[in-house]
Amino acid sequence: MQQSASSRSAGTLTGSDEDSLAVADAQRIILNQVQPIVATEILALKLALGRVLADDLVSPMNVPAADNSAMDGYALRSIDLQAAKPGSTVTLKIAGHAFAGHAFDGTVNAGHCVRIMTGAVIPQGCDAVLPQELAQRLNDHTVELPAQSGQPGLNIRRAGEDLLLGQAALKQGRLLSPADLGLIASLGLAEVVVKRKLRVAHFSTGDELQSAGQPLDEGHVFDSNRYTLHGMLVRAGFEPIDLGLVKDDPAAIEAALLQACAQADAVITSGGVSAGDADYTRQMMARLGDVAFWKIAMRPGRPLAFGTLDVNGKRAILFGLPGNPVATMVSFYFFARPALYALAGAQAPELTTVRAISEADIPKKLGRTEFQRGQLTRSSSGELGVRTTGAQGSGILSSMTEADCMIILSNDQDTVRTGDMVDVVLFDGLI
Ligand code: AMP
Ligand code: MG
Repeated sequence: MQQSASSRSAGTLTGSDEDSLAVADAQRIILNQVQPIVATEILALKLALGRVLADDLVSPMNVPAADNSAMDGYALRSIDLQAAKPGSTVTLKIAGHAFAGHAFDGTVNAGHCVRIMTGAVIPQGCDAVLPQELAQRLNDHTVELPAQSGQPGLNIRRAGEDLLLGQAALKQGRLLSPADLGLIASLGLAEVVVKRKLRVAHFSTGDELQSAGQPLDEGHVFDSNRYTLHGMLVRAGFEPIDLGLVKDDPAAIEAALLQACAQADAVITSGGVSAGDADYTRQMMARLGDVAFWKIAMRPGRPLAFGTLDVNGKRAILFGLPGNPVATMVSFYFFARPALYALAGAQAPELTTVRAISEADIPKKLGRTEFQRGQLTRSSSGELGVRTTGAQGSGILSSMTEADCMIILSNDQDTVRTGDMVDVVLFDGLI
């Protein structure tokens, strides 16, 4: 952390709605304070899927390494075809064969060609490949081709046309995709240097919580946040460390925070950060680190704690997310996730945002950002429409499972009217 979170946010710690922090401001403050981890490891290529490339990957060779044929056909000297009269044919002698992995050894002279297969290296002297469909094979040794039919370079894949020797093939910070793994392999590299996997400890707080898998006691609720958080962390490529359920008890919360800080790069808690709660979570966070408690101008998810824990010189960034299940998820996606990617040294994958036509009025208050769960529709004329999933309470997790997108209504937007265009973030690959 370059600057204390609490000192930056002093004006937002308490007070009325007017003291709320805008979503964009909170996002900026958070990102400004995150320094990427430096530790790296070398991985076999297949194990590097979804990992963060540690350094620019400079191509050690041309790909392809040599000019080669894009077709099955005849490699020839285009001048031999160009020299003949239009409409006539040219008869060439077949000097030999070139297969993928078995080059033609020798130089092709005037009046000659080489039978060539896709991927075979272009023989010396040749500058074009005519597809076999254009050729009339006269016998084993000669072939007839239409005059004027081959330009220099025709059906030749040039050396380096995919990747040039010395070119940055992939940039550091990239989350390696299946295509990236293939590209790295195409350079002959069987291993790759990636950032160490980010370790993220998380736990749920609340006396009313119970773990799934046992009968529910009266007045209790099952803990769902540990599961959504686990899923969101794994999806994003981080290593979750589940520290379980923690009671609203100062000693238990302290012990959990200490353990989390010792084991992880980042700590995520849910519950106990709103001002009305049994205050132990906030007390302990403030005691063990440098943590700001914000009220964010958003719905769902108003309270948010952010800062650093510092225990005996071991540091971890901390997100205290609100406990309501939808608020936990929304706060994770829009605050924690980008920061965790930054901490991991990765460029956060952009959330795909599209514009869609609202199919109904959506009541909305000015001065806060609302994240409504939505379902996309496609009209018969192909236009993208969206409607909300119904009840939008911050505890209604089914509003998430039924949604395929989130409608984002910004601070300065008021009630949306049917037919208005709205911003929509797609859930694809996210939820
Ligand atoms: P809190 O943020 O602690 O004030 O909690 C807000 C609401 O979210 C309360 O109704 C809690 O019971 C509920 N809640 C808190 N944590 C969880 C959790 N891990 N799973 C499900 N509901 C939770
Ligand atoms: Mg609570």
